[in-house]
Amino acid sequence: MDIHEYQAKEILSQFGVPVPRGGLAYSPEQAGYRAREIGGSAWVVKAQIHSGGRGQAGGVRVCKSEEEVRDFASTLFGRNLVTKQTGAQGKAVYRVWIEEASDIARELYLGFVLDRKSERIMIVASGHGGMEIEELAETDPESLRRMTVDPAVGLADFQARELAFALDLSSAQVSQMSTVLKACYRAYRDLDATMVEINPLVVTGSGELVALDAKMSFDTNALFRRPQVSELRDRSQEEPRESAAGDYGLSYVGLEGNIGCMINGAGLAMATMDMIGLAGGQPANFLDIGGGASPERVVRAFRTVLDDKNVEVMLVNIFAGINRCDWVAEGVVKAFREVDVKLPVVVRLAGTNVEEGKRIIEDSGLPIMTADSLEDAARKAVAAAERRAAA
Ligand code: GDP
Ligand code: MN
Repeated sequence: MDIHEYQAKEILSQFGVPVPRGGLAYSPEQAGYRAREIGGSAWVVKAQIHSGGRGQAGGVRVCKSEEEVRDFASTLFGRNLVTKQTGAQGKAVYRVWIEEASDIARELYLGFVLDRKSERIMIVASGHGGMEIEELAETDPESLRRMTVDPAVGLADFQARELAFALDLSSAQVSQMSTVLKACYRAYRDLDATMVEINPLVVTGSGELVALDAKMSFDTNALFRRPQVSELRDRSQEEPRESAAGDYGLSYVGLEGNIGCMINGAGLAMATMDMIGLAGGQPANFLDIGGGASPERVVRAFRTVLDDKNVEVMLVNIFAGINRCDWVAEGVVKAFREVDVKLPVVVRLAGTNVEEGKRIIEDSGLPIMTADSLEDAARKAVAAAERRAAA
């Protein structure tokens, strides 16, 4: 789960990371009022959306008067901001963050991620911040420093110093950097984060380290024990179909193609998508209906996939272990009748209660194509999509 920049800043500052003073606004008037409250003569006005790359997309501006703060904020509210990370539909701005402008001498990059290979939290840092990490990795890979942390020991002082020295910081800044690193590490550990990123972490004109941007993501499987984090969820930033599917225990990701997929197990879903590609087609979505899917959940999954108007064919591929083919078949038949499915549907069932499942589909008398193997199913689905496109 992602949270907004201002929320990440508040959390990190509680752990000891220095951040600029700021305030949140829900309207242009409130933005102007925040600027007056903060004081000074320059403010940064920042659209709060769950995405980076806001600066380049026109979502961040340094303003020199209360009026300018108000005017710029009014261009942001209600707008769909399209960044490199949001996709073409963009993300809606309902909150704007106003903070005192900082005087930037240097921009650093700092990120904390989970390194699955070493099973440890990995710190990634660079003396050349400001640009996105993907861009940095491409244009300036030598500047990246990586370090993993032993979970039994925690982030050791010598490690923090080593990283700070590698970034060419002065001795006064080295101890500040240590504080920042340890604070981020503790926030990551204590709150079950999956990612903490400060980009840029700046050195100000007077030599202080300050986090000008902050990003945090959290492990959704741990949210049950982090109520203070889960209450930060902002549904306005989620893709509606994905978040509705999530409420029913379905894991759905919308894609560009026209073959709707309903599959159990993430691995099988990936393999099916590959197989569709191999047969010359394109999947419209990733969808894992999970283990033990009841007929009701299958109907819900059908509705979710068919909600996507690009879908021309539906491919159901179930390898039932914990699942039961008869339940899935019942769900498919039920969905056909309830949702009034007009599209070709290809079903491949294997595993627990497969004979029973096949019988339910045959007895239904519905125009459902069956397939015996994954390859066969993918070919039939792609052929059906091509027939529809030709018609
Ligand atoms: P992002 O583009 O979504 O990552 O948003 P950031 O919060 O990183 O802001 C984008 C850019 O705006 C930063 O890289 C800075 O160059 C600039 N910026 C942000 N805050 C300030 C500030 O206080 N003063 C100045 N001069 N520039 C800022
Ligand atoms: Mn940034």
